Amino acid sequence: MNVTFFGAAREVGRSAIMLEAGEKILLDCGIKPAKEPEYPLLDSKTIKSLDRVVLSHAHLDHSGYIPGLYGQGYKGQVEITKPTRDLIQLLLADFLRLNKINPPYSQVEVSRLLKSTSIREFDEPFKTKSSTIRFRTAGHILGAAMTEVHTANRKILYSGDIDIRESRLLDGAATDLEADTLILESTYGAKSDKHPSLKTTGKGFIDSVNRTLKRGGKVIIPTFAIGRGQEILFTLESYLRSGGLERVPIYLDGMVTRALRIYRHNAIYLKKEIQRRILTSEDDPFKSEFYFIPQRKDRGDVFEHDRAIILATSGMLNGGPVMSYLDKLGSDERNKLLLVGYQAAGTQGRELLEGRGYVETEGRRIDINCEIEQAPFSGHSDHAELVSFAKSVKGLKSVYVVHGEGSKSYELAEAIEAQCKGVQTIVPELGETIRI
Ligand SMILES: [Zn+2]
Ligand SMILES: [Zn+2]
Repeated sequence: MNVTFFGAAREVGRSAIMLEAGEKILLDCGIKPAKEPEYPLLDSKTIKSLDRVVLSHAHLDHSGYIPGLYGQGYKGQVEITKPTRDLIQLLLADFLRLNKINPPYSQVEVSRLLKSTSIREFDEPFKTKSSTIRFRTAGHILGAAMTEVHTANRKILYSGDIDIRESRLLDGAATDLEADTLILESTYGAKSDKHPSLKTTGKGFIDSVNRTLKRGGKVIIPTFAIGRGQEILFTLESYLRSGGLERVPIYLDGMVTRALRIYRHNAIYLKKEIQRRILTSEDDPFKSEFYFIPQRKDRGDVFEHDRAIILATSGMLNGGPVMSYLDKLGSDERNKLLLVGYQAAGTQGRELLEGRGYVETEGRRIDINCEIEQAPFSGHSDHAELVSFAKSVKGLKSVYVVHGEGSKSYELAEAIEAQCKGVQTIVPELGETIRI
């Protein structure tokens, strides 16, 4: 069997891995988020020869280039979970909105993709020409799956993005797995990547929000539409309810609200506890009296409040409604910009954290004088968890470490080799084909 890494090798972004064993299966096909997005290194001859695409989850670094495949002659299906199908509609439409100047495809290709999805349930294997494929729970975000591909003589497991810990909304990744070959993400693969507990993270986050509200400031939380956005919102909601957080309005702007609706529609994929709370409607965490949506186009109703919490997309400050809030509130020292989750290299979120005191939007420069902090919410497992995940896979012989900045992938590979007896690790190069 050949495996080719068309992206996400020694980088985060544009995940696209092809397995060739009788048929050609492409695992994910994403973009690399940046001011100028980058795409997988796939040529149209390869694209035309693909038999099948399997999508792990909705995030654009995994899904964002699939419509481009249809634009270049791909005619097959995309295997997908139900929530992922619902979520990509939202994310792909938004991607096109933000990339009007040089879009890699149009809404026509997005529609073709949506018509070509085959919905698969978790844990239910399905057969293809030469393999059996099965989705397993990955934690991470709603609908996120690990992918098992079993052929006559190989058992491949692709992690996609995983979180083995349970979060406020989701169960952790499945751990009863068997594979000879594991393709493993390493977003937080460095030895120094240690996530505090969910409780510590939540407490630190709420303390930080409270400090800003007490001095009469507003808190701007740029968020991914999907994933951390919901975790943060539910954390705020639970502290508001228990009196641990100052009573102020929480404004939701951008796709967070629509994503929230999709989460609620797909509640059977959330934790049992959340399903129970939805059923007893007075405790429904999706319908809090503290949530508001800006009513005026200029968002004047939000700015009228002395104190407020604002959740707005995009998470890495590459456009989206969050930019209007930074424009209006970013210069005031009383306010706070609270970044959450991974900030990829080359994004404005990352540059701000590295000390650049401004952001750019529509060719204009906005000086940022408000306080900037980062809350360690994460939908990914950390170093130790990734090692223990690899250890838990039965029959494992080799691990291909992907989806991480080079040094992080290497540190994870080294640790796995040291701690998992008889397991060989490889950190593939971009574009590399490896015979396994
Ligand atoms: Zn992801
Ligand atoms: Zn990812």
